Amino acid sequence: MNITKFEDLPISDEIKKAIAEMGFEEPSPIQAQSIPVILSGKDVIGQAQTGTGKTAAFSIPILETVDPSDKSLQAVVLCPTRELAIQVSAEIKKLSKYMHGIKTLPVYGGQPIDRQIRSLKGGVQVVIGTPGRVIDHINRKTIKMNNVKMLILDEADEMLDMGFREDIEMILDQTPENRQTTFFSATMAKGILDLTKKFQKDPEHIKVVRKEITVPNISQYYIETRNSNKLEVLCRLVDVYNPKLSVVFCNTKRGADELVSDLQARGYFADALHGDLKQTQRDIVMDKFRNGTIDILVATDVAARGIDVDDVEAVFNYDLPQDEEYYVHRIGRTGRAGRNGISFSFVFGKEMRKMKDIERYTKAKLVKHDIPSIADVEEKKVGAFFAQVKETIEAGHLTKQLQWLENFCNDENYSTVDIAAALVKLALGEELKEEIVEEKPRERRERGERGERRERRGATGAQEGMVRLFINVGRNQRVQAKDIVGAIAGEAGIPGKLVGTIDIYDKYTFVEVPKENAKKVLEKMKDIKIKGNKINIEQANRKKKQ
Ligand code: ADP
Ligand code: MG
Repeated sequence: MNITKFEDLPISDEIKKAIAEMGFEEPSPIQAQSIPVILSGKDVIGQAQTGTGKTAAFSIPILETVDPSDKSLQAVVLCPTRELAIQVSAEIKKLSKYMHGIKTLPVYGGQPIDRQIRSLKGGVQVVIGTPGRVIDHINRKTIKMNNVKMLILDEADEMLDMGFREDIEMILDQTPENRQTTFFSATMAKGILDLTKKFQKDPEHIKVVRKEITVPNISQYYIETRNSNKLEVLCRLVDVYNPKLSVVFCNTKRGADELVSDLQARGYFADALHGDLKQTQRDIVMDKFRNGTIDILVATDVAARGIDVDDVEAVFNYDLPQDEEYYVHRIGRTGRAGRNGISFSFVFGKEMRKMKDIERYTKAKLVKHDIPSIADVEEKKVGAFFAQVKETIEAGHLTKQLQWLENFCNDENYSTVDIAAALVKLALGEELKEEIVEEKPRERRERGERGERRERRGATGAQEGMVRLFINVGRNQRVQAKDIVGAIAGEAGIPGKLVGTIDIYDKYTFVEVPKENAKKVLEKMKDIKIKGNKINIEQANRKKKQ
């Protein structure tokens, strides 16, 4: 079988017209190989990497099979997340644009069930849903499986990883024996083979392994760095390359959470996406990422799969993935929609061997990249600053400022160059001099916030003469700066104006107080409540996890 054109596939003209409109020129290998087999009625296990068009591979046969004149539910697609259910549903809608009488509906948790019930009552032939919500509807009898001819598990491996096994089995048990069962997955985990044995009939396993797996428009680099330096290296790379959106991969949920705290403490806009989050929390994070409220998404493999956001310009393998296939999934988050992408993998010591395995598997070479030096970061920062200056000059309207400058020059007898230099210093802060030492355990770095606001700070990150304190309440407790100042003034009797910088994050707050008052503040605020929450206050310590 060697089909290379949609023309050669036994599909209706309506679908072909929609496909042409969607800009698909030819079927992808998984589509070319699985569409005819599914159309023949056989059970299929389709295995291909992320981004190879698996959605259309099962959606086209669904649309060919469903009888539009029959209003009963005929096909069910199970997806691991709301995100994917919506994506798949949207693709089926596009493919069925020129067909009449076919109704599809995504059902997932988090959306009011009443609305879904109302839509279901109107007669829906194709449901795309998350397992939990589908079961909910089955129990309410708002979804009836008795006439279902096709059942598809999309991202089957991920659903099993997420613990949906029992739900899936229950749904499969409710579906007529003579149904057609299709699994699509990027990897072939053992759990899938178990399901296959139990629920599929003589399935055909269609596996597409691309020879050239990675896309040529992703520049892949590796950086040798030990664990203790990774955070600093990541920050420098982000500062130097300034990607619009980045995805950083960690191997564990805890690692991801910790990295997010570290990044937030340095003033980056980051958040985590991993399997511990509820669907609604994931949606919030993804929305923030898509609209740029955060520009760094720290993710684990399971959570980030299948998510397509076109503006991801960089992928960081903060931890090298355990599995070579994961590497491909990860870097595939960038370089989408024909754009250029860049990926950095952090490796050290014996991980080099794992990296070689990845190179062998992907048939691509990872190019060594040096750790950006402080000078690189500075150059970038200074460059960006002067670009802004240039823009401001060219935009004009500086009459008032020129007047102030002239007055100042006349009064003080400074040259304009001296004044300009002082202004640059005010805007950019002192130069940073510390370099990363890879041979020795690194000394604690002193660094403040991102970009222009970065200043040289003391050992706990505080301004000179101040001590930085950590309080375990933050934005999530609706804490505002005035609450912190109020508590310090009220409990420790320290005038509000002596309270220094206050940085409020989601879960905690940093506040600077004069060195001589620190002890008193710590004592007096030990057992108090802020916004009704009993707090814990201690000296901020960059080595400790906060
Ligand atoms: P997968 O489920 O395998 O990860 P998707 O089905 O989400 O992949 O497809 C990835 C992208 O490729 C989508 O944007 C989809 O519209 C597009 N696509 C799918 N099939 C084709 C095709 N034959 N030609 C061009 N683009 C395609
Ligand atoms: Mg998919």
